Amino acid sequence: MNIHEYQAKALLRSYGAPVSDGRPVTRAEDAKTAAGELDGPLWVVKAQIHAGGRGKGKFKEADAGEAGGVRLTKSVEEAAQEAKKMLGRTLVTHQTGPAGKQVNRIYIEDGSGIETEMYLALLVDRQTSRIGFVVSTEGGMDIEEVAENTPEKILNFTVDPATGYQPFHGRRVAFALGLEGPQIKQCVALMGNLYKAFVEKDMEMLEINPLIVTDGGDLKVLDAKVSFDGNAIYRHAVRSGKKRPVRRGEFLSCKIF
Ligand code: ADP
Ligand code: MG
Repeated sequence: MNIHEYQAKALLRSYGAPVSDGRPVTRAEDAKTAAGELDGPLWVVKAQIHAGGRGKGKFKEADAGEAGGVRLTKSVEEAAQEAKKMLGRTLVTHQTGPAGKQVNRIYIEDGSGIETEMYLALLVDRQTSRIGFVVSTEGGMDIEEVAENTPEKILNFTVDPATGYQPFHGRRVAFALGLEGPQIKQCVALMGNLYKAFVEKDMEMLEINPLIVTDGGDLKVLDAKVSFDGNAIYRHAVRSGKKRPVRRGEFLSCKIF
């Protein structure tokens, strides 16, 4: 089972992860009020669909405009306009298939100044049943692509369930990402919080792409994709004779680990 970005962020925020302030909106007439509650000076309008690649996606309808499913705007009015253009329209990304997905909800979020974009995922390693970290300096790109072209830019390791998460795991992540100074401490804390959320919420996959260093030098979760253990669904699907689709986390774990 997947949840939307705004739900994943609310969940991660409740575990202490650094996430921007944002407001989900389903009706165009609510967009201006929602945007007005955020500080600015940058408002990001993000389509909430169960597929990635939104930024580079394209809407089917011409009146949705040329831009993709993640739009950077510079005023409350502009944010509301872009929200209105996207709501009810069909977004096509490389993960939706040609039919695309209807955008029934958008998320208006405080914009961040970005210094660097990085990749981070936690997932269940099928072979060992341990929780694994996948880390790369190549944020904002599909990890499958990075694994294919520059596998040396990916670090992955698993956590021994007997000890659980330890600060050295977080330092290992920080080192792989080239973090410095206070960012290292932030990283150790953030990885611990993410690990805790992963275990307690029975996640199957937690992908943060990108994790960023802001222009102020702090770590921030800029995108979040969470899927939960689908075993109950799986059993149901088997009984009803449906073939189980290969999940993305599985692809990742067999490809990388
Ligand atoms: P997707 O992965 O579906 O394309 P993301 O949430 O990763 O969607 O957004 C795509 C890109 O848009 C990010 O890599 C980042 O560069 C930019 N972006 C997303 N959210 C924000 C934000 N709050 N502030 C500034 N830039 C953002
Ligand atoms: Mg992303």
